[in-house]
Amino acid sequence: MEEVKDSDTSRHFLRQWIDEDHAAGRTGGQVVTRFPPEPNGYIHIGHAKAVCVDFGMAKLFGGECHLRLDDTNPTKESDEYAENIKNDIRWLGFQWSGAGDAGEAGFYNASNMFDTMYRIAENLIKAGQAYCCNLTQEEWKQYRGVPEKPGTPSPSRDTDPERNLRIFREMRDGKYADGEWCLRAKIDMASPNIHFRDPVIYRIRHVSHYHLGDKWCIYPMYDFAHPIEDALEGVTHSMCTLEFEVHRPLYDWVVDRMDEQGLLVVRNGVKIRPQQREFARLNITWTVMSKRLLLQLVTEKHVAGWDDPRMPTVCGMRRRGFPPAAIREFCERVGVTKVESESDPALLEWCVREELNRTAARRMAVLDPVKVVIENFEGSRTVTKANNPLDESAGSREIPFSRELWIDRADFQENPEKKFFRLGPDREVRLAGACIVKCTGYEKDADGKVSLIRCTWDEGSWGGNAPDGRKVKGTIHWVDAATAVKAEVRLYDRLFTVPDPLQDGSDGFLKYMNKDSLRTLTAYVEPALGQAEPGTSFQFERTGYFVADAKDSKPGAPVFNRTVTLKDSYKPA
Ligand code: ATP
Ligand code: MG
Repeated sequence: MEEVKDSDTSRHFLRQWIDEDHAAGRTGGQVVTRFPPEPNGYIHIGHAKAVCVDFGMAKLFGGECHLRLDDTNPTKESDEYAENIKNDIRWLGFQWSGAGDAGEAGFYNASNMFDTMYRIAENLIKAGQAYCCNLTQEEWKQYRGVPEKPGTPSPSRDTDPERNLRIFREMRDGKYADGEWCLRAKIDMASPNIHFRDPVIYRIRHVSHYHLGDKWCIYPMYDFAHPIEDALEGVTHSMCTLEFEVHRPLYDWVVDRMDEQGLLVVRNGVKIRPQQREFARLNITWTVMSKRLLLQLVTEKHVAGWDDPRMPTVCGMRRRGFPPAAIREFCERVGVTKVESESDPALLEWCVREELNRTAARRMAVLDPVKVVIENFEGSRTVTKANNPLDESAGSREIPFSRELWIDRADFQENPEKKFFRLGPDREVRLAGACIVKCTGYEKDADGKVSLIRCTWDEGSWGGNAPDGRKVKGTIHWVDAATAVKAEVRLYDRLFTVPDPLQDGSDGFLKYMNKDSLRTLTAYVEPALGQAEPGTSFQFERTGYFVADAKDSKPGAPVFNRTVTLKDSYKPA
């Protein structure tokens, strides 16, 4: 696992908040955070942001971050999702720690706390703090009313605990259909905060849970379950996105009730009251991030899967070749704020480029090949090139060179335009690391496409410089035809053609899909690339950053995904 570094930009309000609590002794000497994904999909760049914040803050204070699967909503959860979430978090560079609730350190399942949640609910009923209600959903909404005016109490509001306990147990025992009854907390029907108006805390759902099967047909609501999970795990700081800010009083209400019931964890003599704070979610233009829409892209086969390199999922970014350090750097640069904003994917790509420029080995690959014959070249030679000019320790490699080569079609012009300094009739160019060649003629095929370029080489120029000191401006990359390896190259572009694919609502987003978001080419690459380890990143000189595809690339038959182009006009502010 890579080292995750601290940096100045993370001195944000959440950090100050935790710092103060910790210094004042309210954490019992241990900062505990949690990342609580629902195992109903793959995590995406937005979750990666939350992962960086939740795990990052725990790490900063020498504390723990729990991984808690928030599996309280049984409909769409699965172990496949759960396993992939774990894998993705580890890949991002983070590891959960702490006691854990099922034999794995730091790992929790909200569903393992269902028994306790149920007991808390019964205690609330016994204390007159919750009641069973059989209003229909429409009635319930109507009674709840609008913030400006007090709501109307349910006819069940002032019923006695015995009656409510009986109905709640019947709910649990499967006596009622979905929606027939629910359990509501008795709080304040006049509160200007709508979430305080006797919120539903348990509902009936006759759905099998992916771990517990049919043990339960009632499930706790998020607002009830989440503070309980936090409190039972001894979480000190519970960070979530801004839309939960209005739920915070309810979070605190539940924690207060747990305190009354003597259920708060005591650490080093300090009673741990979990607290919630909110930060702005990460939004990125040119893509969609809702799990529902990502699932739709997958199930309707608009993409090749959750890990399609065009997806904003963590597994998609991995397959695209984005290094985890670049994703963390991006999250760091976006920062933690209370203001909703949109980030440009160009910033993420910039971070990727910066990272790969430091770390990726250089190789030569010709994506749109045209043959060059050096007519006065005999035999074969070897060119030695640095693997990474920025990193001497990366060493060098030997590349074969002989009379037939591949070069990129774009490096030759029949009628060179102004400022074109590469190959053309009677022009000279430097073949990177090798020698200077001059074009003496060319051939075209039936379609008028250049099919062969004839050259001669300056026999004094081996190594790259002209013996008489004359200037040759252009340098191009090449691949020796005799030893070149054929490779499939996938050029990925944005999945959508507009910055906001949801501009017409979530029903219309498919019409903004970019039809050219994937182009597949057959390229020639230098021999070393033929054995590229799947998942390894390279800079193809003068072309871009590419990664050997983790699934489809095989020794001798490599497949490369374009991660990012080499350059972009984008500069971070
Ligand atoms: P959905 O509502 O589509 O199921 P979700 O985004 O709520 O998905 P969860 O699995 O509940 O998914 O999220 C886990 C954690 O990740 C939550 O704490 C949530 O606030 C955080 N999170 C999700 N999306 C973002 C985002 N875009 N930016 C920052 N944090 C996010
Ligand atoms: Mg959610």
